[in-house]
Amino acid sequence: MSERKKVLGVYGAAGSHWVGDGFPVRTIFPSRDVEDLSPFLMLDYAGPAHFAPSNRPRGVEEHPHRGFETVTISYQGSVDHHDSAGNTGTINPGDVQWMTAASGVVHEEMHGKDFTSEGGDFEMVQLWVNLPAAQKMSKPRYQGILDSAIPRARLGAKAFARVIAGELDGVQGPAKTFTPVNVFDVRLETGRRGELKLKAGQNSAIVLLRGDVILNGSSELKGEALIAPLARSGESVLLEAKSESLLLVLSGESLNEPVASYGPFVMNTESELKQAFEDYRVGRMGHVH
Ligand code: MN
Repeated sequence: MSERKKVLGVYGAAGSHWVGDGFPVRTIFPSRDVEDLSPFLMLDYAGPAHFAPSNRPRGVEEHPHRGFETVTISYQGSVDHHDSAGNTGTINPGDVQWMTAASGVVHEEMHGKDFTSEGGDFEMVQLWVNLPAAQKMSKPRYQGILDSAIPRARLGAKAFARVIAGELDGVQGPAKTFTPVNVFDVRLETGRRGELKLKAGQNSAIVLLRGDVILNGSSELKGEALIAPLARSGESVLLEAKSESLLLVLSGESLNEPVASYGPFVMNTESELKQAFEDYRVGRMGHVH
């Protein structure tokens, strides 16, 4: 058996706020307790929340990003996306949108048309993945990854992980990344257990969106929006679900580069940040419509 990764702590979300009028989010990191999980910059958990039927789409109007990637995973509800590079798409339950903002994307993220008119339960995450300095000003890229394109790796008897990015037990995820990044969607029914293999030397964390799970037989994550960062050494984590649990597993190689970030821009230096604001202001990142 491989050496287990030590659980460094179990922490709650930093706080909650609305993103636009469509996303009631809890920021799981960064927080006072989890500051650096490079290459991951931020994780927002939207919902679960119920929205009544409406004739006006809710969401976030046109806004820019530069220097990193936004990864949106839908569990319930749908989001329509339009951006300045001409990409459009709808993220439905099970789907993942992996958007590389790189040199600059202006986009809007609105609840889907059908979801808006019918209403319903809404639950998503948005993860920000940093880009290495060499790729921050490269061309934007858009990957709309459908549920059906995401393969499963077996963790144990009737316990599986969906491999969105990276590799797990020989199963390769469909998302293209610029540096080694692993993103796994794990749903465990009550009583299921599994051994999750993770690479040594990377930053990694187990995120419990909701449920009750025991890590390595001793650390319990129970409730909603909790994160357990793991030690870099070791190669596996034992998961045991005490009730139905929804987890997100993140692991990746630290970039070891300076981070200068403000709002929707994540660069390496203050002068690059200033340039980003200026480029957006004068329209160099384009517009959605
Ligand atoms: Mn955005």
